[in-house]
Amino acid sequence: MTGPESEGITVRRAVCPGSFDPITNGHLDIIGRASKLYDVVHVAVMINQSKKGLFTVDERIELIREVTADFGNVEVESFHGLLVDFCKQREIPAIVKGLRAVSDFDYELQMAQMNNGLSGVETLFVPTNPTYSFLSSSLVKEVATWGGDVSHLLPPAVHEALVKRLGEL
Ligand code: ADP
Repeated sequence: MTGPESEGITVRRAVCPGSFDPITNGHLDIIGRASKLYDVVHVAVMINQSKKGLFTVDERIELIREVTADFGNVEVESFHGLLVDFCKQREIPAIVKGLRAVSDFDYELQMAQMNNGLSGVETLFVPTNPTYSFLSSSLVKEVATWGGDVSHLLPPAVHEALVKRLGEL
């Protein structure tokens, strides 16, 4: 091991999990805010074999890497299985999630309590920037499929990839 951890310095880590199909400005806002609070932010792209995405997991990872590169402390990986195992393997004590509206809260609370019960990992909720409180990847895809302008809701590279992908379908 090299770097600060080998010298006994604690590296404060958090994870932002999700499907990111594709990453939106709402995700990016939460990852950026987490990156100011933690030394390293892991972005974990969930692999869901039963749900085919518009982008492959590798494409999502590439896009996330590209648009988070400037933060300087974001690591992007895929994961399969339980998020608490991802956390345990990398010594991550905290999950950071954005809360868009009260409708998010019920499910997020259950997941946070379950994850804490399973492994002691904490979940921190960050209130969404109101500009993005209605924003989800699925809504963006739906609007874009019918020709609606979503360019203000996505980083430019992601918007470009989305337009290209929809054109291929
Ligand atoms: P969704 O939860 O919409 O299916 P993801 O699984 O990709 O989409 O989202 C992962 C996490 O990112 C969510 O649980 C939430 O914490 C955060 N997130 C998603 N969209 C937004 C948004 N518009 N503003 C803030 N956080 C968001």
